[in-house]
Amino acid sequence: LESIIASPEVVHYVCKRFGIHMSKKLGQNFLIRRSVVDEIVAAAELTAGEPVLEIGPGIGTLTQGLAQSGAAVTAVELDRRLLEVLDTTLAQYNNVRIIHGDVLKVNIPEIMNHKPFKVVANLPYYITTPIIMSLLEMKLPIERLVVMVQREVAERMVAQPGTKAYGALSVAVQYYTEPSIVMDVPPRAFMPAPEVTSAVICCRLREKPPVEVADEKLFFRVVKAAFAQRRKTFSNTMKTTGLDKETIASVLAKANIDGARRGETFSLQELADVANAWYALLQ
Ligand code: SAM
Repeated sequence: LESIIASPEVVHYVCKRFGIHMSKKLGQNFLIRRSVVDEIVAAAELTAGEPVLEIGPGIGTLTQGLAQSGAAVTAVELDRRLLEVLDTTLAQYNNVRIIHGDVLKVNIPEIMNHKPFKVVANLPYYITTPIIMSLLEMKLPIERLVVMVQREVAERMVAQPGTKAYGALSVAVQYYTEPSIVMDVPPRAFMPAPEVTSAVICCRLREKPPVEVADEKLFFRVVKAAFAQRRKTFSNTMKTTGLDKETIASVLAKANIDGARRGETFSLQELADVANAWYALLQ
């Protein structure tokens, strides 16, 4: 018999039995609602034997749902205390492998056997953005990323130019993937309940970026500059790249862009136009 881990009673029981006090520092808010686990697993569209990386399995609430889908689950957990818990709660699944470590430090290609995979996780909120950014920047063969994040972070990921939520995270996520919000999740779906509403976001990796970029390094330097100083004109904030005023003026003229606009109004295409004009100038 498979008893469902994602329920208030079982999470409470397991934590009590193993003497686990959830660590706020490690972002430990465990899911206690099975319907949320089911929706996350459904959004991942897993097939039997497919490799999936879970970040932060906790006591195994989401891991169980992933295991039941038949996928080949590799889960990386930082908190050593949880290893023996996971050994017990997931004992009956032979398609789960737990790795002890910090997801920002482990060699992901190696643990995923250098093959394409999906990432599914209820992320620890204190490092949500670094995790997402590093997964994207490493250019790993991640076919799909289905993650629970703070609602506000999910909004930043899907934000359009000119809105308050639009920033470097929006550009990076939309450059590499097609993101969409799957569902909102209220604080009471977790134990302990976090202070904010969460959301599940599904990011499908693009086959190629939506805009043509001659040099990605330059593109992301322009992106960084565009959002470095909110409410400054783009010409001004571009100075943070180290370019002088005259060069910035000629880059913007070449890109046919009005430098008096604010950086946060720039679309991916316009950011790419600036980066490509800069690139052309260097040739
Ligand atoms: N997946 C479980 C669930 O949904 O109930 C737990 C999710 S909890 C929000 C985040 C988990 O990530 C915790 O178990 C925490 O210990 C773990 N964690 C925190 N920092 C980590 C890191 N740098 N690398 C790997 N796991 C981490």
